[in-house]
Amino acid sequence: MEKNGRECGCGRRGCLECYCSGTGIVRSAIEKLAISRRPSALRNILSSKLEAKDVSVAAASGDELALEILADTGRRLGEACANFAAFSSPEAFIFFGGPTKAGELLMAHVRKAYDDNVLFVYKGKAKILLSELDGASAAVLGASALGWEL
Ligand SMILES: [Zn+2]
Repeated sequence: MEKNGRECGCGRRGCLECYCSGTGIVRSAIEKLAISRRPSALRNILSSKLEAKDVSVAAASGDELALEILADTGRRLGEACANFAAFSSPEAFIFFGGPTKAGELLMAHVRKAYDDNVLFVYKGKAKILLSELDGASAAVLGASALGWEL
């Protein structure tokens, strides 16, 4: 997603995972805190202890830096979904995981970036949803669903 971007655990650079996972959000926070002098509740947390949840909590209380991090994350996710739609035309994108607990503070940006970037023939077709599964069963059910299709 980002040419010569952040190093990823897979050995490449700039993967979506590096920006939009919980770990990616923490990396964004640490970068933003380092290059900005703006006040933020995130400055009260040691970078080694910082979690994506802290960014969501700060954003929910109106912390501008945290809101910006979620906006950037949502934009990247929405753009990625728009690119994905161009060759897959999915019925829906279903998001799951810690970062989605930020709710609309993240998802509103995902939807906007998706709508701004998706090919016009796919505009308004794919739903952007949050999974309602709990954390423990989601991976197992996802694997099981492969069997249901056969
Ligand atoms: Zn990667």
